[in-house]
Amino acid sequence: MKSTTPWHLAERAHAMNPSAIREILKVTERPGILNFAGGLPSPETFPVDAMRAACATVLAEGSAVARPSLQYASSEGLPELRAWIAAELAKQGATVSPDQVLITTGSQQGLDLIAKVLIDKGSRLLVESPTYLGALQAFTPMQPAVESIESDSGGVSASALREALQKGERPRFIYLLPNFQNPTGRTMDEARRQAVIAVCREHGLPIVEDNPYGELWFDQPPPKPLLARWPEGVVYLGSFSKILAPGLRLGYIVAPPALYPKLLQAKQAADLHTPGFNQRVVAEVIKDGFLDRHVPTIRARYHAQRDAILAALARELGPTGAEWTQPVGGMFVWVRLPDGLNAQALLPKAVDAGMAFVPGAPFYAGAPDVRTLRLSFVTSTPAQIDQGMAALGQVVRAAL
Ligand code: PMP
Repeated sequence: MKSTTPWHLAERAHAMNPSAIREILKVTERPGILNFAGGLPSPETFPVDAMRAACATVLAEGSAVARPSLQYASSEGLPELRAWIAAELAKQGATVSPDQVLITTGSQQGLDLIAKVLIDKGSRLLVESPTYLGALQAFTPMQPAVESIESDSGGVSASALREALQKGERPRFIYLLPNFQNPTGRTMDEARRQAVIAVCREHGLPIVEDNPYGELWFDQPPPKPLLARWPEGVVYLGSFSKILAPGLRLGYIVAPPALYPKLLQAKQAADLHTPGFNQRVVAEVIKDGFLDRHVPTIRARYHAQRDAILAALARELGPTGAEWTQPVGGMFVWVRLPDGLNAQALLPKAVDAGMAFVPGAPFYAGAPDVRTLRLSFVTSTPAQIDQGMAALGQVVRAAL
């Protein structure tokens, strides 16, 4: 039969798929469900008053920046923000010029631009196991051959990485999340960072370092970023989503000079520039050290919630043989249920019992561990966490 539609989809459109998570989350969107499934920061942390004041200042009568902030702007981003980002990275040991900073519409756009600039059909890419689903979504339309590297509680294994590099063509890059990873909450310690960087340098394997959660540490800052260790071999992604608000859609790429012009051209094609008004308002909010006061309040809040969920998991799942990560920052705990259980199959039962999680399978580029699931602990109170983990415990025990 002749097709009735005049549209012929591109190969890359066929490679796109609906977010597995969004489909799963539909099950969880019942009223009254204690939701540990989402990946949202706590709205209680959004600095509404500071944002309101900054908007008023930017748009005040006689303000010199009011009209420029509403005009088309440069594709690279607002100079004040680019300089601020370079200065922040300098504090973490990474020496970069503001000229290397490209302000993006969220760091998610950074992933998309990197995919366009670095991936050909069939290009080999390496990722952690598991990894951030949104990155897989950004990469797959370019039809790469994505390969998972064995990872443990400290992130990607340096020896497994070395082995992978000893065979096959050189991958275009490895995508790494060293701090409080989404989805597992794990962190690469100093020794692992050194070992991984050594292997990457030796084999000339570039790194895409994604760091949206790095500021959300609980007791001490994480070791310095990979960018600080190999400036010409790392493209770094940062974001204002978790330290201010994700609705601003403000993120950034820090790229070596060899890569920057192409990322800029891809940015121009995508949207000309990141909203200038949002950039101006954020520059106004942060200019006097606001984040030095604000971010510690987010850390304290998430720290208490992390304590609550680890205590509740020990109580409810400890006796079942389940295992989970011990995040030292960020928003997530990763649970591995006892052998024989399947998190996806358990989800409807958990929802019936009043709580929701995300099954871990969609976060794997390769063969998934179907026992795994992700819990976000930042949008529930300690009392809700207790109640939610009690419901999870009940469902897991019943399934054993
Ligand atoms: N990378 C990771 C690891 C994330 O978890 C997220 C947000 N869920 C992003 C990138 C995208 O963040 P944004 O576009 O809001 O900066």
